[in-house]
Amino acid sequence: MATVMGVFAHPDDETFIAGGTFARLAAEGHRVVIACATRGEMGRRLGVPLRATRESLGALREQELREACAALGVSRLVLLGYRDKEVEMVPEDEGVSRLESLFAEERPASVITFHDPLGGHPDHAAIGRLATSAFARYRRMNEGARLFYLAWGDDLAAFRRYPQPAKALVEVDVRAYRRQKLLAFRAHRTQSELDGAIWGSEEKAVHRMRHCEYFVLSQGPSLRRPGTLTD
Ligand SMILES: [Zn+2]
Repeated sequence: MATVMGVFAHPDDETFIAGGTFARLAAEGHRVVIACATRGEMGRRLGVPLRATRESLGALREQELREACAALGVSRLVLLGYRDKEVEMVPEDEGVSRLESLFAEERPASVITFHDPLGGHPDHAAIGRLATSAFARYRRMNEGARLFYLAWGDDLAAFRRYPQPAKALVEVDVRAYRRQKLLAFRAHRTQSELDGAIWGSEEKAVHRMRHCEYFVLSQGPSLRRPGTLTD
């Protein structure tokens, strides 16, 4: 069994983009570790009806993230404690060293993060940049490790937007893990409350979720089995 680490910017990134994959990895017996750069305290959504103030949102979203990680079966959550909307201001040395130490401690077989600039939000691009540099250092001593970027689209067209050295598009079938993903979506109440499709009947909500999640292999050995992130 392997350790897989996700490195993200905000609470909910792990669930909304790759929750089915983490639930599947955990159910298959892998150790899933999530590192989240911020507590998402600058998010525009404060809940419907209002659940938080600007001052209390960070603590509430941290709690939501803990609940979501529990729903997905995440083994360890690490909060890096950076400020929301300011990840690009984190000194590179400090951010890279921090993640490199975490990689050295956890020895992940695979790391999943955002691509810069395809991750979109400036915080996403910034944490992806730090994680990519940290991974390059980590890989010097761990040649078999792999780095994946989150793919937003679901087809080869999305993959082709990725610059080299993108090696492969990995399609992970998460159909059997949509219920866990839904529970994690619902745990991120302040962010998902406006989304009616999430809060109707559980069966309908599960039915509407994506069947697959997509990742781009960027560094590390080719995969022997399609549809996995670990071998
Ligand atoms: Zn985000």
